[in-house]
Amino acid sequence: MKVQLLEATEDPEELVCTGARNDYYGGYVGDESFETVMEGIEGDSIEEKKETLIGHLLSHGHFGPFEHPQATFAVKGISRSCMAQITRHRHVSFDVQSMRYVAFDDVDPADVAEGELVVTPPSASDPDWVGRNQKTGAVDEEAVAERERVFEESVSRSVEEYQRLLELGMPPEDARFVLPIGTKVNMVMSMNVRMLMHVADMRAAADAQWEIREMTERVLELASEWCPITFEYYEEHMKNRKNRLAP
Ligand SMILES: Cc1cc2nc3c(=O)[nH]c(=O)nc-3n(C[C@H](O)[C@H](O)[C@H](O)COP(=O)(O)OP(=O)(O)OC[C@H]3O[C@@H](n4cnc5c(N)ncnc54)[C@H](O)[C@@H]3O)c2cc1C
Repeated sequence: MKVQLLEATEDPEELVCTGARNDYYGGYVGDESFETVMEGIEGDSIEEKKETLIGHLLSHGHFGPFEHPQATFAVKGISRSCMAQITRHRHVSFDVQSMRYVAFDDVDPADVAEGELVVTPPSASDPDWVGRNQKTGAVDEEAVAERERVFEESVSRSVEEYQRLLELGMPPEDARFVLPIGTKVNMVMSMNVRMLMHVADMRAAADAQWEIREMTERVLELASEWCPITFEYYEEHMKNRKNRLAP
């Protein structure tokens, strides 16, 4: 999996503060410098003032101003299962690689077991992995080896049969029906800062699946560089506010 920041609002936290100051400001923020707009906010420097105001907004649940800055992420190699989970978030915008127009006819089925084209979950080979709704308790080495073999055989066979159907002239949009839900996909997604915090609340949480959790943690790392004050506060005070509905 790879996650990178493609594009993002410049000076996102200046924008958040300007939006918020507009609410309680007698003048017109469009006519003033940022320094003037921030007059009256506690702090010796403009950075300190931003920290004060952003901390105040987040601690009071005043999330509207965080809808102004937007970021776009490119995601590579997540499973279709993970894609189905993240696309449930209705305020995130997506572009998803099409399996109608992209045919994976050049992938060697022998490489599929090595992670080519299909995501291999850690539980396929890790005896200590404990997932949700797991039927077995502790498993012996033999069972784990068998689990790995069945998984590899199954995904390789699916890809082989998919490619055979393409050779037989079946359109990629229909041949894909035999591919596993773990088939990899690339995606571009955009969201504002408020939504990013909501997605993180739900998808970086301990009960989310390992893959979407990993993707969300990577998004959060990039967000921390882009909006450092906001996401430092989020990490310290808000992370794990379980499924909190935004007021
Ligand atoms: C651990 C986990 C397990 C899950 N398991 C399942 C499952 O088994 N089956 C399943 O179907 N889904 C499942 N989901 C998905 C979940 O039910 C939500 O659909 C998904 O997380 C989107 O989040 P959201 O509802 O907050 O909506 P978002 O689209 O992210 O919207 C953000 C917020 O906007 C508001 N909002 C948006 N649209 C509306 C609306 N139409 N009406 C009212 N308020 C709205 C809500 O306050 C919402 O919280 C799971 C999610 C998690 C995190």
